[in-house]
Amino acid sequence: MWAEVSEMILEEATPSTDQELNPWHAAEIRFDEAAERLGLDDGLRKILRSPATEITVHIPVQLDDGRLEVFTGYRVQHSIARGPAKGGIRFAPDVTLDEVRALASWMTWKCAVVNIPFGGAKGGVVCDPSVLSQGELERITRRYTAELIDFIGPERDVPAPDMNTNEQTMAWIMDTYSMHKRSTVTAVVTGKPFQLGGSRGRREATGRGCMIVALQALRKFGLEPNETRVVIQGFGNVGGMAAKLMARAGFKIVCVIEVDGAVYNPHGLDIPALMAHRAETGSILDFKEAENLPREEALYLDCDILLPAAKENVITSHNADRIRAKILCEGANGPTTAAADRILEERKIFVVPDILANAGGVTVSYFEWVQDREGFFWNEQLVNGRLEEIMVNSFRDVVAYAEKHGVNNRTAAYMLALDRVAFAIKLRGIYA
Ligand code: GLU
Repeated sequence: MWAEVSEMILEEATPSTDQELNPWHAAEIRFDEAAERLGLDDGLRKILRSPATEITVHIPVQLDDGRLEVFTGYRVQHSIARGPAKGGIRFAPDVTLDEVRALASWMTWKCAVVNIPFGGAKGGVVCDPSVLSQGELERITRRYTAELIDFIGPERDVPAPDMNTNEQTMAWIMDTYSMHKRSTVTAVVTGKPFQLGGSRGRREATGRGCMIVALQALRKFGLEPNETRVVIQGFGNVGGMAAKLMARAGFKIVCVIEVDGAVYNPHGLDIPALMAHRAETGSILDFKEAENLPREEALYLDCDILLPAAKENVITSHNADRIRAKILCEGANGPTTAAADRILEERKIFVVPDILANAGGVTVSYFEWVQDREGFFWNEQLVNGRLEEIMVNSFRDVVAYAEKHGVNNRTAAYMLALDRVAFAIKLRGIYA
C-alpha cells in the first residue's frame, strides 16, 4: 500500500517541469511520503505541512547614486516545536517565497535529523549582490533586520549565512539587532566573525560535515579515500571547503564544476593551487595540469562520489539517468528533485540526503549559539570532535532506519525527522 502511495505522489511530480522545479512542491512530496509511511495523523500532518509564520517585507534602500530602490525580503519560520527557529538568509535575484518556504521546512527536518534543539526557518532578499556595493548591501541587511526585529532573537529565530551572505552580513545583523535592544546580543545570529562571538570551525563546518558523511558512506562500499574519485559542483563555502578538507584527507578530487565551466584531472586536482588560481584569475578555468570541460559533461563523469554543493534542482527527471556516481552526497539544499529520487533509487545510487549531508553547518551554528549564551568559547578540536560525533551518529541512525524500514536514505531521514518533530508537538500540546 505504501509503495502505491509513493508511486502516485511521484508520478504527479514528473509531467510538468515547472512543478518539478518548484522546491516547495519537492518538499511537500517528500513530506507526504514520509508522513504516509509513518502513519502520521491528519491533524499533525496539517500542522507540519504549513509554515508557522511567513513574513514579507518591502524595504526601501538608498543606492550609492542617490536613487531609492525597494527590495522584497522574506523570513519564513516553518516550525518552533523543538526550539527557536533556525536557518540562513540568502541574497539572490531569483529568490521566491516558495523557495524560502521549502528551505525553511528543510531546516526543521535537518535540525531534527541531527537532533539539535531548533526548529526551522529561512530568509531571503530579492537582490543581485553582484551589482551592489558593500554600502548598499549593508543598508539592505540593516533595514531587513530592522523590519524583522520583533520576530528574531536568541530564543526566537536565529539567522545564519546562506547563499551570498557571509560573516560580515551576520556582523551587520548582530549590530543592528543590538542597537535596537540597547545591549550586545551575540546569540541573535550564528556564522559571525570569530572576534564577535563566532565559533571556531563554523566556516568549514558544512564542508567538514559533508566529508564526515562521505567517509561513512565509503565504508559501505569498502573503498578507501585515496581510491575514491570525487566530482564537486560548486566551489563556494560548501564545495570549496569540502574540496579542501577531502583533498587533505586523501580523496582524489578529479573535477570541480563552477558556473562558467569545469576543470578535470583524473589523477586529482591540487585544490589549494586551484583556489589560488581562481583568486588570481577570477575563474577556475584554464588551470594548469587540468582539462577544461563543459559543465553538463562534468556532472555525468564516471566517479565514486558526486557532491553537488551549489543550487537546487541540479539532478532532475531529465538527467538522473546520466549520473554515474556510486554515492551522491548532497552538500547543497535540494539539489535533487523528487522525481529524480525514484530514478536514483532504481539505479541503486547511494544518496546521502541534504538534510543529513549538509547539516554540519547548522550543527556548529548550534555550538556557536551555546558558546555565546555561555560566554565561554571552545577550541577548534572540541568543536570538530563534537561535530564528528553528531554527524557519524546521525548517519548511522538514518542508514539503520532505512535498512530497518526498507526505504531509501532520504525517506528514512524525513521519517526520523518528522517523528521527532511530531513527538515534540504532541508533548507540548496545542495552545488554545
Ligand atoms: N544556511 C545553512 C543551511 O542551509 C546554515 C544554517 C544555520 O547555520 O542556521 O544549513
